[in-house]
Amino acid sequence: MNRTIGYFFRQQDLAGDEHIVLFHNGSVLLREDKIFWPVSMLQHLNLRSHHSLLVGRFQNRNCMAFALLDDHVASLNAVKKTPRQLLLERGLDDFGLIGQSNQLLNWLQSHRFCGHCGNKTVPHDSERTLVCPACRLHFYPRINPCVIVLVCREDKLLLARHNKASSPYFSCLAGFMEAGETPEETVAREVREEVGIEVENIRYIKSQSWPFPSQLMLGFFADYKSGEIEVDGKEIAEAHWYERDSLPLSPAAGISVAGQLIELFLQ
Ligand SMILES: [Zn+2]
Repeated sequence: MNRTIGYFFRQQDLAGDEHIVLFHNGSVLLREDKIFWPVSMLQHLNLRSHHSLLVGRFQNRNCMAFALLDDHVASLNAVKKTPRQLLLERGLDDFGLIGQSNQLLNWLQSHRFCGHCGNKTVPHDSERTLVCPACRLHFYPRINPCVIVLVCREDKLLLARHNKASSPYFSCLAGFMEAGETPEETVAREVREEVGIEVENIRYIKSQSWPFPSQLMLGFFADYKSGEIEVDGKEIAEAHWYERDSLPLSPAAGISVAGQLIELFLQ
Protein backbone atom coordinates (compact mmCIF):
# COMPACT_ATOMS: atom_id res chain seq x y z
CA MET A 1 0.00 0.00 0.00
CA ASN A 2 2.69 2.47 1.00
CA ARG A 3 5.29 1.34 -1.50
CA THR A 4 7.25 4.11 -3.13
CA ILE A 5 6.40 5.28 -6.61
CA GLY A 6 8.13 8.16 -8.41
CA TYR A 7 6.54 11.34 -9.67
CA PHE A 8 7.14 9.95 -13.15
CA PHE A 9 6.30 6.27 -13.41
CA ARG A 10 5.69 3.61 -16.00
CA GLN A 11 2.29 2.09 -16.37
CA GLN A 12 3.64 -1.28 -15.19
CA ASP A 13 4.73 0.33 -11.87
CA LEU A 14 1.11 0.85 -10.80
CA ALA A 15 0.04 -1.31 -7.86
CA GLY A 16 -3.61 -1.43 -8.88
CA ASP A 17 -5.13 0.48 -5.95
CA GLU A 18 -4.34 4.00 -7.19
CA HIS A 19 -6.86 6.77 -7.64
CA ILE A 20 -6.64 7.83 -11.27
CA VAL A 21 -7.92 11.08 -12.74
CA LEU A 22 -8.22 11.28 -16.52
CA PHE A 23 -8.00 14.37 -18.70
CA HIS A 24 -8.48 14.96 -22.40
CA ASN A 25 -7.73 18.33 -24.01
CA GLY A 26 -8.06 20.09 -20.66
CA SER A 27 -11.37 18.44 -19.68
CA VAL A 28 -11.88 15.89 -16.92
CA LEU A 29 -13.29 12.50 -17.90
CA LEU A 30 -15.91 11.26 -15.45
CA ARG A 31 -17.04 7.68 -14.93
CA GLU A 32 -20.74 8.41 -14.50
CA ASP A 33 -20.31 11.18 -11.91
CA LYS A 34 -17.10 9.82 -10.35
CA ILE A 35 -13.75 11.49 -10.86
CA PHE A 36 -11.61 8.40 -10.07
CA TRP A 37 -10.98 5.49 -12.41
CA PRO A 38 -9.64 2.08 -11.33
CA VAL A 39 -6.38 0.90 -12.89
CA SER A 40 -8.15 -2.23 -14.14
CA MET A 41 -10.25 -0.17 -16.56
CA LEU A 42 -7.18 1.44 -18.15
CA GLN A 43 -4.82 -1.47 -18.73
CA HIS A 44 -5.53 -1.56 -22.46
CA LEU A 45 -4.52 2.07 -22.98
CA ASN A 46 -0.67 1.89 -23.14
CA LEU A 47 -0.09 5.33 -21.62
CA ARG A 48 3.09 7.31 -22.20
CA SER A 49 5.34 8.86 -19.59
CA HIS A 50 4.94 12.38 -20.93
CA HIS A 51 1.22 12.11 -20.34
CA SER A 52 1.04 10.90 -16.75
CA LEU A 53 2.35 11.70 -13.31
CA LEU A 54 1.88 11.21 -9.60
CA VAL A 55 -0.11 14.10 -8.13
CA GLY A 56 0.09 13.09 -4.48
CA ARG A 57 -1.68 11.15 -1.74
CA PHE A 58 -5.46 11.31 -1.51
CA GLN A 59 -7.61 9.28 0.90
CA ASN A 60 -4.52 7.20 1.76
CA ARG A 61 -3.81 6.20 -1.82
CA ASN A 62 -1.53 7.46 -4.54
CA CYS A 63 -3.37 9.70 -6.97
CA MET A 64 -2.22 9.73 -10.59
CA ALA A 65 -3.27 12.04 -13.41
CA PHE A 66 -3.28 10.92 -17.05
CA ALA A 67 -3.74 13.02 -20.16
CA LEU A 68 -5.35 10.80 -22.77
CA LEU A 69 -5.08 10.85 -26.54
CA ASP A 70 -8.12 10.84 -28.84
CA ASP A 71 -7.86 7.07 -29.43
CA HIS A 72 -7.89 6.39 -25.69
CA VAL A 73 -11.05 8.37 -25.11
CA ALA A 74 -13.00 6.48 -27.78
CA SER A 75 -12.54 3.25 -25.83
CA LEU A 76 -13.93 4.64 -22.56
CA ASN A 77 -17.52 5.37 -21.70
CA ALA A 78 -16.80 8.78 -20.19
CA VAL A 79 -18.50 12.13 -19.63
CA LYS A 80 -16.30 15.20 -20.27
CA LYS A 81 -16.43 18.30 -18.09
CA THR A 82 -14.01 21.20 -17.78
CA PRO A 83 -12.46 21.86 -14.35
CA ARG A 84 -14.38 25.16 -14.34
CA GLN A 85 -17.71 23.36 -14.90
CA LEU A 86 -16.89 20.97 -12.06
CA LEU A 87 -16.05 23.89 -9.78
CA LEU A 88 -19.40 25.56 -10.51
CA GLU A 89 -21.36 22.32 -10.13
CA ARG A 90 -19.61 20.80 -7.10
CA GLY A 91 -17.98 23.70 -5.31
CA LEU A 92 -14.57 23.15 -3.78
CA ASP A 93 -15.03 19.41 -3.02
CA ASP A 94 -12.34 17.49 -4.92
CA PHE A 95 -11.42 20.71 -6.68
CA GLY A 96 -7.95 20.93 -5.11
CA LEU A 97 -7.07 17.59 -6.61
CA ILE A 98 -8.64 18.28 -10.01
CA GLY A 99 -6.97 21.67 -10.18
CA GLN A 100 -3.57 20.37 -9.15
CA SER A 101 -3.80 17.53 -11.67
CA ASN A 102 -4.82 19.89 -14.45
CA GLN A 103 -2.02 22.29 -13.59
CA LEU A 104 0.66 19.58 -13.47
CA LEU A 105 -0.42 17.91 -16.72
CA ASN A 106 -0.37 21.29 -18.42
CA TRP A 107 3.17 21.86 -17.22
CA LEU A 108 4.27 18.36 -18.25
CA GLN A 109 2.93 18.71 -21.76
CA SER A 110 4.23 22.23 -22.33
CA HIS A 111 7.81 21.51 -21.18
CA ARG A 112 8.66 18.56 -23.39
CA PHE A 113 11.55 20.53 -24.89
CA CYS A 114 14.19 22.79 -23.31
CA GLY A 115 13.37 26.46 -23.87
CA HIS A 116 17.09 27.28 -23.98
CA CYS A 117 18.57 24.72 -26.40
CA GLY A 118 15.57 22.83 -27.79
CA ASN A 119 16.62 19.35 -26.61
CA LYS A 120 14.00 16.96 -25.29
CA THR A 121 13.59 17.16 -21.51
CA VAL A 122 13.66 14.07 -19.29
CA PRO A 123 12.08 13.43 -15.88
CA HIS A 124 14.28 14.05 -12.83
CA ASP A 125 15.13 10.91 -10.82
CA SER A 126 13.62 12.01 -7.52
CA GLU A 127 12.00 15.44 -7.90
CA ARG A 128 8.92 16.63 -9.76
CA THR A 129 11.09 18.40 -12.30
CA LEU A 130 11.93 18.08 -15.97
CA VAL A 131 15.61 18.34 -16.84
CA CYS A 132 17.42 19.20 -20.08
CA PRO A 133 20.20 16.57 -20.48
CA ALA A 134 22.28 18.97 -22.62
CA CYS A 135 22.37 22.18 -20.57
CA ARG A 136 21.14 20.77 -17.22
CA LEU A 137 18.39 23.37 -16.86
CA HIS A 138 15.59 22.31 -14.51
CA PHE A 139 11.96 23.09 -15.32
CA TYR A 140 9.68 23.12 -12.28
CA PRO A 141 5.88 23.45 -12.44
CA ARG A 142 5.25 27.15 -12.95
CA ILE A 143 2.86 29.17 -10.80
CA ASN A 144 1.75 32.62 -11.96
CA PRO A 145 0.89 34.97 -9.09
CA CYS A 146 -2.05 37.34 -9.53
CA VAL A 147 -3.59 39.86 -7.17
CA ILE A 148 -7.30 40.28 -6.62
CA VAL A 149 -8.49 43.30 -4.68
CA LEU A 150 -11.70 44.57 -3.15
CA VAL A 151 -11.54 48.37 -3.01
CA CYS A 152 -13.59 49.94 -0.20
CA ARG A 153 -14.73 53.55 0.23
CA GLU A 154 -16.25 53.94 3.68
CA ASP A 155 -19.27 51.63 3.52
CA LYS A 156 -19.22 51.15 -0.26
CA LEU A 157 -17.30 48.67 -2.34
CA LEU A 158 -16.04 48.88 -5.91
CA LEU A 159 -17.15 46.08 -8.23
CA ALA A 160 -16.44 45.81 -11.93
CA ARG A 161 -17.78 43.87 -14.88
CA HIS A 162 -15.00 42.43 -16.97
CA ASN A 163 -14.99 42.86 -20.68
CA LYS A 164 -15.78 39.25 -21.55
CA ALA A 165 -19.05 39.31 -23.44
CA SER A 166 -20.25 36.20 -21.58
CA SER A 167 -19.64 37.39 -18.01
CA PRO A 168 -22.68 38.88 -16.25
CA TYR A 169 -20.83 39.10 -12.90
CA PHE A 170 -19.54 42.17 -11.12
CA SER A 171 -16.41 41.26 -9.21
CA CYS A 172 -13.17 42.48 -7.66
CA LEU A 173 -10.35 43.89 -9.78
CA ALA A 174 -7.53 41.49 -10.61
CA GLY A 175 -4.33 41.22 -12.59
CA PHE A 176 -1.04 39.39 -13.04
CA MET A 177 2.04 40.44 -11.12
CA GLU A 178 4.82 41.79 -13.30
CA ALA A 179 8.52 41.03 -12.88
CA GLY A 180 10.05 43.05 -10.04
CA GLU A 181 6.75 44.00 -8.37
CA THR A 182 5.58 43.31 -4.85
CA PRO A 183 1.94 42.18 -4.63
CA GLU A 184 1.02 45.54 -3.04
CA GLU A 185 2.59 47.40 -5.97
CA THR A 186 0.60 45.23 -8.38
CA VAL A 187 -2.62 46.07 -6.51
CA ALA A 188 -1.97 49.83 -6.78
CA ARG A 189 -0.99 49.58 -10.47
CA GLU A 190 -3.91 47.36 -11.51
CA VAL A 191 -6.49 49.57 -9.79
CA ARG A 192 -4.95 52.67 -11.37
CA GLU A 193 -4.83 51.09 -14.86
CA GLU A 194 -8.27 49.48 -14.80
CA VAL A 195 -10.43 52.13 -13.10
CA GLY A 196 -8.23 55.22 -12.77
CA ILE A 197 -8.25 55.65 -8.98
CA GLU A 198 -5.55 55.62 -6.31
CA VAL A 199 -5.74 53.31 -3.27
CA GLU A 200 -4.01 53.13 0.12
CA ASN A 201 -3.90 50.87 3.18
CA ILE A 202 -3.44 47.77 0.99
CA ARG A 203 -3.65 44.65 3.16
CA TYR A 204 -3.39 40.95 2.37
CA ILE A 205 -6.41 38.82 3.34
CA LYS A 206 -6.24 35.33 1.81
CA SER A 207 -5.20 33.29 -1.21
CA GLN A 208 -6.46 30.58 -3.54
CA SER A 209 -4.91 28.34 -6.14
CA TRP A 210 -6.68 29.07 -9.43
CA PRO A 211 -5.52 26.40 -11.85
CA PHE A 212 -6.79 27.89 -15.13
CA PRO A 213 -4.13 26.89 -15.86
CA SER A 214 -1.63 28.02 -13.20
CA GLN A 215 -2.56 31.14 -11.26
CA LEU A 216 -2.13 31.77 -7.55
CA MET A 217 -4.65 34.42 -6.52
CA LEU A 218 -3.52 36.70 -3.68
CA GLY A 219 -6.56 38.46 -2.20
CA PHE A 220 -6.35 42.01 -0.78
CA PHE A 221 -8.49 44.77 0.66
CA ALA A 222 -7.57 48.35 -0.22
CA ASP A 223 -9.05 51.72 0.74
CA TYR A 224 -9.98 54.44 -1.73
CA LYS A 225 -7.58 57.38 -1.65
CA SER A 226 -8.34 59.69 -4.59
CA GLY A 227 -9.64 60.04 -8.14
CA GLU A 228 -12.85 59.30 -10.03
CA ILE A 229 -13.74 55.97 -11.66
CA GLU A 230 -12.70 55.91 -15.28
CA VAL A 231 -12.66 52.39 -16.73
CA ASP A 232 -9.97 51.39 -19.20
CA GLY A 233 -12.56 50.01 -21.66
CA LYS A 234 -10.25 47.10 -22.50
CA GLU A 235 -10.28 44.75 -19.53
CA ILE A 236 -13.10 46.46 -17.64
CA ALA A 237 -16.46 47.27 -19.24
CA GLU A 238 -17.98 49.12 -16.25
CA ALA A 239 -17.26 49.70 -12.57
CA HIS A 240 -19.29 51.36 -9.81
CA TRP A 241 -19.42 51.95 -6.07
CA TYR A 242 -22.08 49.76 -4.44
CA GLU A 243 -23.86 50.03 -1.11
CA ARG A 244 -23.91 46.75 0.81
CA ASP A 245 -27.69 46.37 0.39
CA SER A 246 -27.73 46.91 -3.37
CA LEU A 247 -25.05 44.59 -4.72
CA PRO A 248 -25.15 43.44 -8.34
CA LEU A 249 -24.77 39.80 -9.42
CA SER A 250 -21.40 38.80 -7.97
CA PRO A 251 -19.32 35.61 -7.42
CA ALA A 252 -20.28 33.10 -4.72
CA ALA A 253 -18.15 32.80 -1.58
CA GLY A 254 -18.12 28.99 -1.90
CA ILE A 255 -16.16 29.11 -5.14
CA SER A 256 -13.67 31.93 -5.47
CA VAL A 257 -11.54 34.22 -3.37
CA ALA A 258 -13.40 37.14 -5.00
CA GLY A 259 -16.65 35.90 -3.46
CA GLN A 260 -14.93 35.38 -0.11
CA LEU A 261 -13.54 38.92 -0.08
CA ILE A 262 -17.00 40.35 -0.78
CA GLU A 263 -18.51 38.19 1.97
CA LEU A 264 -15.83 39.27 4.44
CA PHE A 265 -16.53 42.91 3.66
CA LEU A 266 -20.26 42.40 4.24
CA GLN A 267 -19.59 40.77 7.60
ZN1 LIG B 1 18.77 22.70 -22.84
